[in-house]
Amino acid sequence: MKLQTRNSDRPPPGVELLNPRVRRGPFRAALFDFDGTLSLIREGWPRVMVGMMTDRLRALGLAPEPDEELWGLVERFVMALNGHPTAVQMARFADEVEARGGAPDTPAAYLREYLDRLMAVVGGRWDALASGRATAAEWVVPNAHAVLANLAGRGVPLYLASGTDLAAVRHEAGLLGVLTPFGRHVYAPADNDPTFTKGQVVDDLVRSLGLRPGELLGFGDGVAECYEVKRAGGVMVGVASVEHGQTGVEPGKRARLAAAGADLIVPDYRDQEALIAWLWGDG
Ligand SMILES: [Mg+2]
Repeated sequence: MKLQTRNSDRPPPGVELLNPRVRRGPFRAALFDFDGTLSLIREGWPRVMVGMMTDRLRALGLAPEPDEELWGLVERFVMALNGHPTAVQMARFADEVEARGGAPDTPAAYLREYLDRLMAVVGGRWDALASGRATAAEWVVPNAHAVLANLAGRGVPLYLASGTDLAAVRHEAGLLGVLTPFGRHVYAPADNDPTFTKGQVVDDLVRSLGLRPGELLGFGDGVAECYEVKRAGGVMVGVASVEHGQTGVEPGKRARLAAAGADLIVPDYRDQEALIAWLWGDG
């Protein structure tokens, strides 16, 4: 007897299926991360953050390791906290300074220095978008507008949850034309509040919509949202996005998302129509 796989059981090209038993819709809500999942405005942030931290450790004489080893060590703890409020990454760095026998600055001071460095890069992108020298399509994960429109057209309420400061998220989402689909459901730490968690956002939305396991669909490039969507019994699409102007799957993100339990991996939303149709079991 010949085993036959129905076409509809196979995910569309461009989509990597990690969990063959993934539940297929319909879904009653969709949760998106912002940076790296919809927006590329802050791309390069890990280089800026890890650079600030390694510079500080060197200046304090607390880094005996060779450059590459130090960079890798700092990058690992930064990326393991990707998706948490930025202040949480800064608190982890203060712990690192202390563990190495140094007198740490406050997490708030580290956060200011990081944001100063980051804004030197990001501010130019804000200006280019605001003046029309750059277009929103250039600075979103490819086809992000289409996947939001597709889900909204299916009547799925959209939720945005980010570890980046709330005012910056609203500003950048506005510049990119991806704010309106979320209505009032934009969640992020106000004034970099370190107590903000995506887990709380997920719990609140599950409760308010009365979602059952499997009814939440998540999209994200970070481990925090991946854990929370899976904890709520949802289906997670890992977005292993690369930087502006590049194509393909970013291998480091893919590996972290797979380890965190992502059900599917996509590089972007170029094939969103086929992906969403497959997830809903259309046709
Ligand atoms: Mg992200």
